[in-house]
Amino acid sequence: MTNQNPIVRLSHVKKSFGEVEVLKDISLEVYPGEVVAVIGPSGGGKSTLLRCATLLETFDAGELSYGNLQVAHTEGDKAVYGAKDVIKQAKSRFGLVFQNYNLFPHYTVLKNIMDAPISVQKRDKAEVERQARELIAKMGLEGNEGKVPCELSGGQQQRVSIARALCMNPEIVFFDEPTSALDPELTGEVLKVIKQLAAEHMTMVVVTHEMQFARDVADRIVFMDGGVIVEEGPADQVINHPQHKRTQDFLARYE
Ligand code: ADP
Ligand code: MG
Repeated sequence: MTNQNPIVRLSHVKKSFGEVEVLKDISLEVYPGEVVAVIGPSGGGKSTLLRCATLLETFDAGELSYGNLQVAHTEGDKAVYGAKDVIKQAKSRFGLVFQNYNLFPHYTVLKNIMDAPISVQKRDKAEVERQARELIAKMGLEGNEGKVPCELSGGQQQRVSIARALCMNPEIVFFDEPTSALDPELTGEVLKVIKQLAAEHMTMVVVTHEMQFARDVADRIVFMDGGVIVEEGPADQVINHPQHKRTQDFLARYE
């Protein structure tokens, strides 16, 4: 994998909220087709890392690039972000799926999925609709095209938000705890579609507390705690043979 360019590269990223340093020199590269699971205790900086990677937050120092597109670099000890068009280009390269779906409540399923490709990417409506309907089928949501989010279960809503992310044809999709708002019986159906995407070699970063899922699906696991990457490696190595005490203690809670 190392002879390819990473899809996304974060390097020496630092981020503080007030006095609190939440990301302390984080570096992470994700390569085409790779599935990276990010695990770790609450408050460790996982969401902040995803928010920085997806430009929902700016970081204080460090570098970010998508392929050859440099989004932010460091000058002196400060991060300097690219111009508006660079940010806009970067934003078209990734998809994002949150814990709480973030669907438009008044839009139908179909409209939720079609909105951004038409309004942001300026694509042809008929072409987008074809793709949206394919994604609806792929997510097992046929028959729900005309429903609004509150008529769907949490698991269905999350699958709509995955379809919405995929309809932008992203190079990489970031998931922030995609199942943690779901009842256990609905978690499986969402994990299943993410597994299916992994089998199709979609590049993904998934923050998750589902250790079994992480072990099954991830090529690489990153364990974050206290704003640092404590340990990372192949899923089997990190989950079954963690090297650091903090990783061992964290995983012991899931046994
Ligand atoms: P995780 O996703 O691993 O639970 P977060 O990235 O959400 O961790 O949070 C890391 C730390 O940053 C926590 O201490 C949290 O309270 C703090 N934090 C996150 N977002 C903000 C914010 N917008 N303002 C202030 N503190 C924040
Ligand atoms: Mg979080």
